[in-house]
Amino acid sequence: MRYAIFSDIHSNLEALEAVLEAYQKERIDKYLCVGDIVGYGANPNECIAKVKESATVTLAGNHDWAVVDLFPTDNFNPAAQEAVFWTKEHLGENGKVFLQSLKLIYVIENFVLVHGSLDKPQNFNYLTNVYDCAATFQLLKSSVCFVGHTHVPVVFIQDKEGNSHYQDVDSLKIAPQNKYIINVGSVGQPRDSIPQAAYSIFDTENQEVQIKRIKYDVFKARRKIIEAGLPSFLGDRLLTGN
Ligand code: ZN
Repeated sequence: MRYAIFSDIHSNLEALEAVLEAYQKERIDKYLCVGDIVGYGANPNECIAKVKESATVTLAGNHDWAVVDLFPTDNFNPAAQEAVFWTKEHLGENGKVFLQSLKLIYVIENFVLVHGSLDKPQNFNYLTNVYDCAATFQLLKSSVCFVGHTHVPVVFIQDKEGNSHYQDVDSLKIAPQNKYIINVGSVGQPRDSIPQAAYSIFDTENQEVQIKRIKYDVFKARRKIIEAGLPSFLGDRLLTGN
């Protein structure tokens, strides 16, 4: 099976369309979305419709839950809070029902998906270093866990002695003796200084994961954010990928 695994679209329709088009050339069997369809960008309803149409599984992100009052925004920064309020006002009824229905963890074949971390997934913890990953590695029964949330593509690897390290990846071969936490990066708001949409492919037959990037019209996405009355910072950051 060839899985398309992507995350953190954040209402950026231009980025999502570029990624879905890129996947067309990848012989994908199933699409899996690791959460945060909405928040930050100007096209929440359009992005929800496209994800619903393509993905067989979509998980809940903190922004998805925040706009349907399932997660508090107290710890969101002011621009993120404003985007949640804006999204609440502009989200259609079908979108609300869909976001309310999203689950936190999904197990498929020999891998698992979660937006933040496997420990207390409802808290949306950030896995930014090997110490953050310890509890998730402990709870991980299979060899691979895909996450999103930080908007930075990275792989954390734990060997059979329990030693962990991280590495940047474009392409990775899964070794059966190791455990992996793979952050697929962000479609709609990358934060690794690369202003291109990130998306991944997991080929379970040859046990290979690829994380790819695709250019999209950042200027159009930015213009829509500003015209929608969202904080202009949310548009500007798309230009630098930060
Ligand atoms: Zn996010």
